[in-house]
Amino acid sequence: MACSICPRNCKIDRAAAAGFCGCSSVVRVARAALHFDEEPCISGTRGSGTIFFSGCNLKCIFCQNYVLTDGTHGEIFSVSRLAEMMLKLQDLGAHNVNLVTPTPHRDAIVDALKAAKQDGLTIPVVYNTGSYETVETVRAFEGLVDIFLPDLKYRDPRLSLRFSHASDYFDVAIEAIAEMFRQVGPMVTDGDGIAVKGVRIRHLVLPGCVFDTRSVLDAIRNRFGTDCPVSLMSQFTPIPECTVKPLDRPLTRREYDSALDYCISLGFTNVYSQELSSVGRIFTPPFSDHVNL
Ligand code: SF4
Repeated sequence: MACSICPRNCKIDRAAAAGFCGCSSVVRVARAALHFDEEPCISGTRGSGTIFFSGCNLKCIFCQNYVLTDGTHGEIFSVSRLAEMMLKLQDLGAHNVNLVTPTPHRDAIVDALKAAKQDGLTIPVVYNTGSYETVETVRAFEGLVDIFLPDLKYRDPRLSLRFSHASDYFDVAIEAIAEMFRQVGPMVTDGDGIAVKGVRIRHLVLPGCVFDTRSVLDAIRNRFGTDCPVSLMSQFTPIPECTVKPLDRPLTRREYDSALDYCISLGFTNVYSQELSSVGRIFTPPFSDHVNL
């Protein structure tokens, strides 16, 4: 069947060949484990039950998880094993099941979520995405996903083309995020500060690109209001594989402070900022072709 799961619209038969995302018709998982490096409302005290999928439809040139983006790494999972993994993470005490880069595997994940919920999955399900999504694909998860963590990476099409091969990124992502809001609204937390439902938009401040961060924040305010939960991330870390300027250097404290000051000046009321010690810290967990869980 011709794949049009995401806006790349490759129209290829993934049973015969991989598309831009690197994914064939099988689901590959590179890591499933309790993860403690998400926002406090997601990781909580017991960890987020993350499932890292192999392959990516953005392939950002600065990605810390770049080893996963070609889609060939990780262990092949059936739908039933995926559902079992979700239940196992719940048994381990995870606050949620956190699907990282799920988009290319939409249909298998939808089936696995239905099976897992039938078999007793009750913790919230998190959809963790770069937001290069069609509205139709986001709709496929309606009633199955409780929390959306969408990136809004760029507003300037020149940046999104250069860094993520998608000049239409902003126009596509903002509509996908609007659909997420339609489904679940802004993020709400329980009495312990743990997220139970809703959307929180993430934005990673890039070196030399604070001008675009300001545009992204303007767009969030204009479309979703100042009550929109926002995570302003500082954790950009240059990787040796990326020599493109200005992504070949770390984010400076001055740049992050400038971005955060602008965010606050716009009046956002629910902002998660990262410790400045996050600058240069490696957040990449170990990946493997065998999932030991
Ligand atoms: S999911 Fe992969 S194969 Fe399908 S349209 Fe997107 S990039 Fe192409």
